Amino acid sequence: MGMSALDDASTTTGRHRVVIIGSGFGGLFGAKALRRADVDVTMVARTTHHLFQPLLYQVATGILSQGEIAPPTREILSGQSNARVILGDVTDIDLEARTVSHNVLGRQTVTPYDSLIVAAGAGQSYFGNDHFAEFAPGMKTIDDALELRGRIFGAFEWAELAAAKGDDVDHHLTFVVVGAGPTGVEMAGQIAELAHRTLKRDFRSINSRSARVILVDAASQVLPPFGARLGAKAQKELEGLGVEVQLGAMVTDVDERGLEVKDRDGTVRRIESMTKIWAAGVQANPLGRTLSEQTGAPLDRAGRIGVNPDLTLPGHPEVFVVGDMITLDNLPGVAQVAIQGAKYAAKEIRSRQAGKPPQEPFHYFDKGSMAIISRFRAVAMVGKLRLTGVIAWLMWLAVHLVYITGFKNRLTAVLHWAVSFLGRGRSERTTTEQQIFGRAALQRLEGGAADLVSRPGAYDASRELLETTRRAELEAQAAEEARLSDEGRRGVHADR
Ligand SMILES: Cc1cc2nc3c(=O)[nH]c(=O)nc-3n(C[C@H](O)[C@H](O)[C@H](O)COP(=O)(O)OP(=O)(O)OC[C@H]3O[C@@H](n4cnc5c(N)ncnc54)[C@H](O)[C@@H]3O)c2cc1C
Repeated sequence: MGMSALDDASTTTGRHRVVIIGSGFGGLFGAKALRRADVDVTMVARTTHHLFQPLLYQVATGILSQGEIAPPTREILSGQSNARVILGDVTDIDLEARTVSHNVLGRQTVTPYDSLIVAAGAGQSYFGNDHFAEFAPGMKTIDDALELRGRIFGAFEWAELAAAKGDDVDHHLTFVVVGAGPTGVEMAGQIAELAHRTLKRDFRSINSRSARVILVDAASQVLPPFGARLGAKAQKELEGLGVEVQLGAMVTDVDERGLEVKDRDGTVRRIESMTKIWAAGVQANPLGRTLSEQTGAPLDRAGRIGVNPDLTLPGHPEVFVVGDMITLDNLPGVAQVAIQGAKYAAKEIRSRQAGKPPQEPFHYFDKGSMAIISRFRAVAMVGKLRLTGVIAWLMWLAVHLVYITGFKNRLTAVLHWAVSFLGRGRSERTTTEQQIFGRAALQRLEGGAADLVSRPGAYDASRELLETTRRAELEAQAAEEARLSDEGRRGVHADR
């Protein structure tokens, strides 16, 4: 394991130690639900922020800043004295020893627990074609959203340059979004609005309105979980915005300049496009595999772990798994499943502390789903109710305002929304070269970012070595100077 240390800061109070893995919806709501519990909570997460994933596409298309959807977890929990936050990528969970090993830039730490809540979420799935990721980034993290922002706005810049030289611009101005679920629909709608409204007066050699936005999916309708009627409505709205919806079309290859698509009749065709966005498929966090191997709990095809009805693992009532990592009663991978699961786990920990009997099995309360298509247009399902248009959009606005974390973020998000929805602008159009190419550059380093910092202790050791060498050099230099001046003195005497 390399350098490791038992993280004893959490063991000093002698209280029950709850470790939470992840600072997403499950992790954060779980920590907050333990606010009044007589326990020490340690949250270990690989980012220092809590991420509101449903609004990532707005960061990617320049509507919101990353800070508005990713506030620091440390700040959110600063008033909760029984909670502390540790930056770390969890590499191992030892259910026997009841420890969690985590790593940041090569520095390993081991944190012991009495109860564990695992809420490490899910990543992008390329259905076994991970090499697609190089040219078709997914949208799961702030880095992804900023990279996409750079690629989307950058595509218009390239087109402007190419057009000024009289070169072909079609592949620069063709945007392909793969996956017609809520994320793909929202992304396609926003790129279309960018091209048709925001950028229409900004370029001289190209007409941004001539951009093609193509939404591709192997399924036969957009927004499958929303049912046929809302799916058809969403498709019509998208087409009204200028999005080309191509259904029954499976992506079979992706490269730098475009992608290959196979239609249902077996025809294989190519779409020339520099900017591809992958919004299809999820793969549960690989920590699920570690847990499955140690408990025999099954994994499904998406890597989700089968949990007991009380969200614990077989033979390990002290370990809860919540959110996108689990498979239980066909629950969807949505924020409310993670939030309610984490609150349930926290309540169970509190009940056990108080010596109360176990709760009823976990029951998910479906509060509804919605997807925004463009400004003033959305679709929503709440119970049996099916809503479209402005009413659904206003509902979307209200729900997101409630769930964005922190008053200052709500305030600035409203201002940014006013700029984009009432006006035609975007407040967050800044992009940089590092944003676009940083991921590829880091992937070329064998150990990733850890290769860019010295190993723990190596810095001190090399400084010590430098100091010793320098001291020896200085001593030698002083001795030489003394010798010379001594000789000089004697020389002067000799001359006399
Ligand atoms: C683009 C997008 C749009 C979405 N839109 C909606 C929507 O409109 N409505 C909705 O209900 N749901 C939506 N979802 C789904 C929703 O975001 C997830 O269901 C929810 O985030 C799941 O919560 P979670 O706690 O399980 O995981 P997450 O919120 O993903 O949190 C996982 C946490 O674990 C951390 N982590 C991961 N691996 C490690 C590790 N090895 N060590 C330490 N920390 C680790 C991550 O950094 C993160 O903090 C969307 C998802 C995406 C990607």
